[in-house]
Amino acid sequence: MLSLALAGFAGFMETAGNLVMGAYHYGYHYGYGYGGGYLSYLIFMLPALLLGLWAQAKVSTTFNKYNKINNSRGMTGAEAARMVLDQNGLSYVRIEHVNGKLTDHYDPRDNVIRLSSAVHDSTSIGAIGVACHEAGHAVQHAEEYTPIRIRSAIIPVCNFGSALGPILIVIGCLFAGNKFGLTLAFAGILLYSLVALFQLVTLPVEFDASARALKVLGNSAMFADQDYKGAKKVLSAAAMTYVAALVTTVLQILYYVMVIFGSRRND
Ligand SMILES: [Zn+2]
Repeated sequence: MLSLALAGFAGFMETAGNLVMGAYHYGYHYGYGYGGGYLSYLIFMLPALLLGLWAQAKVSTTFNKYNKINNSRGMTGAEAARMVLDQNGLSYVRIEHVNGKLTDHYDPRDNVIRLSSAVHDSTSIGAIGVACHEAGHAVQHAEEYTPIRIRSAIIPVCNFGSALGPILIVIGCLFAGNKFGLTLAFAGILLYSLVALFQLVTLPVEFDASARALKVLGNSAMFADQDYKGAKKVLSAAAMTYVAALVTTVLQILYYVMVIFGSRRND
């Protein structure tokens, strides 16, 4: 979805930035400040790297498990999402098929929930968990849930920051010997911080959509206890990937700040 696209582009630019900063660092400041280039970057990012790997592994194992267990009602993902929508008076929101894997999303422009085949037609616990989560996003939009309004409002500036921030950091580091370079690099960091802001506002949006889904699935008159527990595990695992993304970005920003402060101190 949006956040993934944002992370993808930022990741690409970040690699370019590290190449330049690593080279710069090795060339002029090795042994000073936070010197060590790639090695120090890797060590610094290790907690985020491990958290990210752990979250990904958790998502894979949890989804693999609960995509094979049928829910007690034999309800498909599409039917479960329909139920959540109708219970919240959102009969006008449509549900469609979408190609691909893990492509499930709610599109507020068209008022449509698009579910992948693995979710749309599946009667697994994993499928109803994901489908109800997406329906939760539709309810958030209908209720004008505050964090989702904030997120929608800041998307343009965050996209701008994720695109321009790393470029300014790279150029700034090339001229880090003078004030112009430092100013440019700091401006780049500030812009790149918008990515962290976006990821931070994403957390309540994602947690709340899952909470709305689980509220419906926790209705014991409708679903068995194991449906609720399984869906909760699936949605919690998915939420951890958003936390890992935020931690990664925050550590990247801290690293950039340290490198630039380090270079200033040595100049
Ligand atoms: Zn979501």
